[in-house]
Amino acid sequence: MPLIIPCCPSITAGLKRICPIIFAIPCILEPPGRISEADTHLPSLIPHPIFCGQNPLDTQNPSSYTPTVKKQYLIKSKNKTTLSKIAIIDIDNTLWQFSDHFYLELRKINSNFPTPDQWFTFDTWEGYCSEVDFIAAINSIHHNQDSDRHKPYPESRDFLSSLKEHGFHIILASHRVPEMRQPTERWLTHHRLPYDELHLSLDKTVLFPMADVVVDDAPPTLEKAIKIGALGAGLLFPWNRAYAGNGFGLFQNLNEVLDYILKSSSKSCLSVVRK
Ligand SMILES: [Mg+2]
Repeated sequence: MPLIIPCCPSITAGLKRICPIIFAIPCILEPPGRISEADTHLPSLIPHPIFCGQNPLDTQNPSSYTPTVKKQYLIKSKNKTTLSKIAIIDIDNTLWQFSDHFYLELRKINSNFPTPDQWFTFDTWEGYCSEVDFIAAINSIHHNQDSDRHKPYPESRDFLSSLKEHGFHIILASHRVPEMRQPTERWLTHHRLPYDELHLSLDKTVLFPMADVVVDDAPPTLEKAIKIGALGAGLLFPWNRAYAGNGFGLFQNLNEVLDYILKSSSKSCLSVVRK
């Protein structure tokens, strides 16, 4: 069961500047009923967009992510005559409980840092740490992603394996800077989490035009996914609970997410190809 982090009722101007960081990680601190441009308003200190993988598509040219290009890529790269569906899967608070470790890092900065169940407003943290410290806490976790302390959810491996078995092409997409690729890959390998591509950037939504399924815990990300016609789903947290019913599915665990995806896919006009 995910750690409980309450939604925040208000947004300050200062936190709007860093809301992409917040939404990319654990704290979905958007008040109910409001959707921010989470992945599009980026901190000025970080270039945008950063792509740091070997994405076989033209990652510097998001406009290339058209359904036609997707089909051509998949058919060519897989030497198949049929089309797979593409599932874009978040990592933090989707494949593992990032928020627990994020809180521990924040406590290192200030031992008086409130517990997550007290993070009611965006500006709560401002009295306890600087923006630089806040981002550094995030990066510290990602830099040590492959630490033994960082365990995936028990269902994560089977969740990804099942998607692959049902013909999905899996792109793991996480809001991280390029330096985090190696520890992230080591973590995925160590825990035998299967995937086809790893996309690390500050704007995963550039992938969405080719997505059939998006799994994420951030309401703005899911809203954008369903807006372009993808199926949206994620784990249920207090920070996204208020968004339930907005067109995407929120569930208690990844087994339920998988069931939702497979049942929804079976109703889709686009057939899923078993590999
Ligand atoms: Mg997440």
